[in-house]
Amino acid sequence: MNVTDTKINHGFWKSRKELNKNTSLYAVLKSFEDSGRIRALTGENTNQEKPHIFWESDLAKLMEGAFFSMQQEKDKKLEKICDSIIDKIIGNQEDDGYLNYFFSKHEPDNKFSNLRDRHELYCAGHMLESSIEHHKATGNSKFFDAMEKYVDHIISKFGIDEGKIRGYPGHQEIELALVKAYEHTNNKKFLDLANYFIDERGTNTEGTDHYFIKERKILKEKEKDFDPSILPSWIRDFVNFGPDPHGTTSSSHGDLQGKVFRDLQYWQSHERPIDQKTAEGHSVRALYMFTAMADLARLNNNTHLLNTCKTLWRNILDKRMYVHCGVGSAHIGERFSFDYDLPNDMAYAETCATIALIYFANRLSKIELNSEYADIIENSLYNLLLASTSLDGKGFFYDNYLECDPGYLHYQQRRHGIRDEYHICSCCPPNITRLFASMDMYIYNIFDNSLVIDQYISSEIDLTKSSQGLKIDQKSDFPHKGYSKIEIIESNSNASVIYFRIPSWDKNMIIKLNGAKVDYELVNGYAKINNNWKKDDVIELSFDFTPRFIRTNPNVRFNVRRACIFRGPILYCLEEKDNGKYLNKFVVDSNKTIEEVEDQINSEKIISLNAKGYKFEDTSTLYLHDKPNLTETNLKYIPYYCWSNRGENEMLVWVNEN
Ligand SMILES: [Zn+2]
Repeated sequence: MNVTDTKINHGFWKSRKELNKNTSLYAVLKSFEDSGRIRALTGENTNQEKPHIFWESDLAKLMEGAFFSMQQEKDKKLEKICDSIIDKIIGNQEDDGYLNYFFSKHEPDNKFSNLRDRHELYCAGHMLESSIEHHKATGNSKFFDAMEKYVDHIISKFGIDEGKIRGYPGHQEIELALVKAYEHTNNKKFLDLANYFIDERGTNTEGTDHYFIKERKILKEKEKDFDPSILPSWIRDFVNFGPDPHGTTSSSHGDLQGKVFRDLQYWQSHERPIDQKTAEGHSVRALYMFTAMADLARLNNNTHLLNTCKTLWRNILDKRMYVHCGVGSAHIGERFSFDYDLPNDMAYAETCATIALIYFANRLSKIELNSEYADIIENSLYNLLLASTSLDGKGFFYDNYLECDPGYLHYQQRRHGIRDEYHICSCCPPNITRLFASMDMYIYNIFDNSLVIDQYISSEIDLTKSSQGLKIDQKSDFPHKGYSKIEIIESNSNASVIYFRIPSWDKNMIIKLNGAKVDYELVNGYAKINNNWKKDDVIELSFDFTPRFIRTNPNVRFNVRRACIFRGPILYCLEEKDNGKYLNKFVVDSNKTIEEVEDQINSEKIISLNAKGYKFEDTSTLYLHDKPNLTETNLKYIPYYCWSNRGENEMLVWVNEN
């Protein structure tokens, strides 16, 4: 699906998209202007504003979000702003096609010399993606032409031929961008380079032949005569590395960080991607790579690679994913750790990682019909992604905790329990704005030439010019009520199939066609209905939104004898504002009925939940000889996405269960 095939046209998500475009996008833009990201492109930055190696990628992502919006609705103001940034970016292109202002201006001798740590190809990937959407939005190819020239330069430098660099990116991203460029142009050179990067990665893992180990040895020689203190701290972090298990680097972070940051798993280069069986290392790198692998499995018809993707998918979903679809639980290394290691208050669960999980799910859904992919996208959107942005659209979470004790976070020197308007390392905010700007493309799918309805989000889709021959309009009451109405606006087809996703949380979904309940065939989590659809046909879908308790596999040590609550797709939590301090004193009674209440947080209309339960009595001593007393109490739950919009305070998702 392209972002222009579907249009979110009213309801909850239309407001969210408007907030994203009118507030979040400009808030991030302003923070990028203020922090010098735009001035740096033309060298107008001052000494106090040293550029950072991936500032270009931040701008590329932010603009890509703008281009998605512009594809749906022309916007002269936004076009002009982006045009000026593009001119600054491509003004730095060298004659041979090389395009990265940081290296061109600040370290021209170090191009492609530190693939492992310096994000050069990562920046190229984000700029390539952005340039494709710019081309689609405006018809102007200047940005894409510049990026194609840069890709040609990269092709001339990388590969298995004699004299070329047999390396690959330390931060994957360009692989999926190259697939997009291939699908945009049909030019196989893009696909070939994507295949090369995935095929070459993790080869020669014996001894010192591994590319990153060889690269380190060369850099270590160079660094002997180099004083890193002359560099700003931002850059120094990426130059002077902690020790790695191969003993090829010098220490700057201490042994612990050295190990978790600098093993080959961190870069998913410990073995060939096609041989990997568990999701390892830095979660965003991993998931961008898995996304590209799924793309390549589809385009190359590679069953082996597809099976690898499915094995990795299972490992994530069955053992390494939070209930709100956060992934990469370890904050040291921003990475996957080990099976069932899902701490709540120390959760890393970077917003970018869940965005990348959405991409991975989306790519797999292009290959096979399986409602699990759309289930994960739904959960990600309604919970972690919505929560990543403040209700006023101006603040953003980088990590997404499931338990917050502000005192603990401050003591651990983690980010605090409020959304920041500016992050020094700002990968997440522009990624959030581009995801919301493009989320129209995750609502419907085409499988086996049939329309698949994946998300119950108010929107229209026109497929009258395709073989499906249908134009439909969906009006959904999600997430407040479990009802969605789909009208056939036009039909020029004879009998055709529509697949309706049955959410994993509701096995009793009822479907009515023109008022009469219809039976359906169950296919991989979808209701398959073959019908001679006519104009004005009305399909009504009713979902069970009764609040329900969810528990965790007891191997997750943090959540034993705890439960969380979902209502429809929405995850709930307790907040200190409603329940007082020390939320772990509460015990929810899962045998009692939960009351649903129309409520409001700031100007956001919500359904809050009143549950029955108990509270441990207060005591002044630290240790007790007797079992503590419990008193009956009410627990007020609010949607997880609304937490921390009334100031920094405690929050808890997994509550003790009686
Ligand atoms: Zn991020």
